[in-house]
Amino acid sequence: MEEGKNYSDEEGENEDIIPEDPDVLGHNLIKSSANGDLKEVQSLLKRKADPNFTDKKSWTPLMWASSQGHTEIVKLLLDKNGKVIMNDSMEKASNNHTPLHWSSFNGHLHVVWVLIKQGLDPNDIDKFGNNCVHHAVAGGRKDILETLLALGVHTDHKNSRGHMPSHLTSDEAIKDMIQGAYKAKKCKKCLSVFDIRNTKHLCQVCKKYYCTNCKILSWVFINYDSVEEERPVLRCLDCQTLVDQAEYQLQEAIDSNSYTKLSTLIEKVVNENINVDVKILYKARREVERLKAEIDINAFIGTLQYVENYKTIQKSVHVLSQMLDDCTKIGIKIDQKIIDKIHKETKRLLSERNLRHQISIISLSDGCPELVKTIEELIKIAEENEVSLNYITKAREITEKMREVIDSHAILRKFLDYPIREYPDLTPIDPKKKPNPAEEAKKRKKEPKIQIPSWAEELPALIKQVDALEQILKKSQKLEIPNTFIDQAKENIARMKKEIKYRQMEEEEARLAAEKKQSDKNKKK
Ligand SMILES: [Zn+2]
Ligand SMILES: [Zn+2]
Repeated sequence: MEEGKNYSDEEGENEDIIPEDPDVLGHNLIKSSANGDLKEVQSLLKRKADPNFTDKKSWTPLMWASSQGHTEIVKLLLDKNGKVIMNDSMEKASNNHTPLHWSSFNGHLHVVWVLIKQGLDPNDIDKFGNNCVHHAVAGGRKDILETLLALGVHTDHKNSRGHMPSHLTSDEAIKDMIQGAYKAKKCKKCLSVFDIRNTKHLCQVCKKYYCTNCKILSWVFINYDSVEEERPVLRCLDCQTLVDQAEYQLQEAIDSNSYTKLSTLIEKVVNENINVDVKILYKARREVERLKAEIDINAFIGTLQYVENYKTIQKSVHVLSQMLDDCTKIGIKIDQKIIDKIHKETKRLLSERNLRHQISIISLSDGCPELVKTIEELIKIAEENEVSLNYITKAREITEKMREVIDSHAILRKFLDYPIREYPDLTPIDPKKKPNPAEEAKKRKKEPKIQIPSWAEELPALIKQVDALEQILKKSQKLEIPNTFIDQAKENIARMKKEIKYRQMEEEEARLAAEKKQSDKNKKK
């Protein structure tokens, strides 16, 4: 009753549940325990089915689940039953068969472990005088027999028909195991003689027999993800020392973060079949996988320090991110430093790729201020991401050249926009004839006035532009300036030079005129 009340409290269920027929509940519990229907067993127990209900064979749900090998149900029933696995009336009714007898006979190793841990004695005998060894041998189960031999279950016990376990099999391997147990008379370590009180235990590693004082029984995890230590392992002191040492070394190697150390040790443990804790071995294997993955990633990053063909960069970046994804997929937790490194390298590689792509596709004649700006942006990003200086310098040179090309176009445009005028031939035809400034000025005055563009109003500004264009033209080959442009530029430079001379002369005349005016003024005074 107490237990039933607890369930309700735990689950917070309604107290007003209509009680079900205990007989029906009990039979259903027997049926679902035998069939392995864990959910139904849980539900029936919650509805207060009696975990110790017996059917007409006098079998309990635990007996059925054990004989059929439904480990989870066995554990659940043991949980609900408390320690009451068998009582006297049950034993009598079931021919003294315990759940351990049936699970040994039917070969359910895990159930055997659970029942032994729960306290069932493998030396118990059924109505016919058989202990668990008889059952395991008759059932042909070497693994269960090994567990029983390790736990010191008597192998020389005769059943009521006078049969020793060895009589119940024709399997040579099983016979050998039993013979080995018979033949062991003294403890391998302390040489104490085995008898009814000084039981013999099979070391599951070296397969020799030891007394109670010279062995260690450990309950260990079955799988790396087990939550409970459910597997009994018996070792002699020497074998136990080997396991302890190997476990200690594994842990040390895990902490060392050394791939070589750890992988060598795992290989040794596996090759020498050292039965270390499955959780430590699993952890060590995961660590080795992680360290290997990190080594591979680092090596791959190493190959990307210099990339011959920038077109391969995107693929390499993809491979790098794939390597990281693969680790995540199989649950390998890569060191944060490596992850940061991958991200940094990815940024560097992509900005290198973008810069190299841009400088490989442009031609200087495409130059426009927007393109210069684009390349400058790419240079800035590349610098931030520590791209090799080679590419940055190359990109800078290109933008420099591009700027000059752009300048040359701008200057030529200004020259073309500069109004055309007829320049009188200013060189005297006859060298003997003295130039007559007055006459020449007269000649020029016939020319119509032109509108000088504002940028050229100051003569030095015009001179400067002519110089600049001439300087650029000197580098025409390097700047890939086409011949048509050079011809046009030269033609206009010549015209602008004439213009300069013309304007210089005009200025000179104006200056002379002003001087004359001044001196006339002075004379008047
Ligand atoms: Zn001993
Ligand atoms: Zn041993």
